[in-house]
Amino acid sequence: MKLNELTISELRRLLDDREVKPGEVLDDIYNRIDAVDDKVKSYITITKDVAYEMAKDAEQAILSNKASLLTGIPVAVKDNMCTKDISTTCASKILHNFKPPYESTVTARLKEQGYILTGKTNLDEFAMGSSTENSGFHTTRNPWDLERVPGGSSGGSAAAVAADECIAALGSDTGGSIRQPAALCGVVGLKPTYGRVSRYGLVAFASSLDQIGPITKNVADAAIMLNAIAGHDPSDSTSAPMDVPDFANVLGHDIKGLKIGIPKEYFIEGMDKDIEDSVRTAIKKLESLGAIPVEVSLPHTGYAVATYYILATSEASSNLARYDGVKYGFRVDGKDLLDMYMNTRAQGFGSEVKRRIMLGTYALSAGYYEAYYKKGQQVRTLIKQDFDNAFKNVDVIVTPTSPSAAFKIGEKATDPLQMYLSDIFTISVNLAGVPAISIPCGFTRDNLPVGLQIIGKHFDEESIFKIAYAYEQSTEWHLRRPQL
Ligand code: GLN
Repeated sequence: MKLNELTISELRRLLDDREVKPGEVLDDIYNRIDAVDDKVKSYITITKDVAYEMAKDAEQAILSNKASLLTGIPVAVKDNMCTKDISTTCASKILHNFKPPYESTVTARLKEQGYILTGKTNLDEFAMGSSTENSGFHTTRNPWDLERVPGGSSGGSAAAVAADECIAALGSDTGGSIRQPAALCGVVGLKPTYGRVSRYGLVAFASSLDQIGPITKNVADAAIMLNAIAGHDPSDSTSAPMDVPDFANVLGHDIKGLKIGIPKEYFIEGMDKDIEDSVRTAIKKLESLGAIPVEVSLPHTGYAVATYYILATSEASSNLARYDGVKYGFRVDGKDLLDMYMNTRAQGFGSEVKRRIMLGTYALSAGYYEAYYKKGQQVRTLIKQDFDNAFKNVDVIVTPTSPSAAFKIGEKATDPLQMYLSDIFTISVNLAGVPAISIPCGFTRDNLPVGLQIIGKHFDEESIFKIAYAYEQSTEWHLRRPQL
């Protein structure tokens, strides 16, 4: 077995027992990247030199018995998180030469633990999309079928984990961008509670929804990663000033008597049959482990996609105003200042980003604000109340992560509405601010992975971990690997 195929926990033991060195783990990672990344295209930037420097420090820490759980572990980071002096592009031409002068809090925390940065992964430009086809540079491919998308927007991170091009990765999730690609690539992806993880240094898309989380090969690794990045940060006023439990503590706890809500609105007409079968079988499995399924209702689910695409685009239109050719590297000159702004933005942004800026600007404009943005906020409250009500009777809610498995490259690229609808099961979670995980729960007839979504109450990632781990321990889906 190659070292790049191992999990964090497996590598931890080998590193701590000094059976392998961080540099040797990296050798296997970069051999793998050399062998498959031409096909999969998970990465935008490969940080090999930096990585081997970090490996030296990790080795020192291990030799002097100062290792933390992530010391010497190679992790890939989505290219919308700032890494000091290392290219951070958001997969956008407008930031193609941007090297941040500061480090995001999440990567700073991983650094404190001695992690190794393998590189920066591909995404839909500014995290807007569900397939990585909106990347300004290239499309990432699904390791299970190279003709298909890996999902998005954290498609590069999910594909890199699935293809063993890193041990774990960070993604960001505004409307499903960690969970949906994790589902489509057959790996684990967790969106923590809004406020659980600092967003400082995450390039903002929709600030009231954005959240950073791990993408990993199994549930235990997700707990290790969340332990490392969670917690209050004075640099992010939306990060919650509350204690963080050790998420690894609940792994292995009995799930007998836990109530799992099954929302009737999530098992809809026209849903892919293989997905429905896998998810229903997974619910049966949870029942056999002692969990009690309870039907619940989230009655405003049908409004979630529309609400999200008003609020997220409104916030994006404001957040992206800063890319004007003055403050960041990319600039296209013009006859005067306004002309320069227009040329820079016209050539710097891709079409999906422009579409969203226009939608959001429209929704916020005088005369339309009440009808769109304000109404959207009101419906958001109703969606959040749906979850509050459902959680009065259950501990977690279980749903499919995505209505379909990985779709073909190009299949939805020209139809934004179809693309937006693929977020139907993930978006409400962001609107409500609650945490949710996607874990592998089966395969379709075409051998494509299916994801099970487990949603928890605010700041109750522990129940999610408990149930996800119990399920994972009694199944083998997470052990399957794509043939590349
Ligand atoms: N697919 C959704 C969108 O396009 C969600 C993206 C995300 O979570 N960053 O906005």
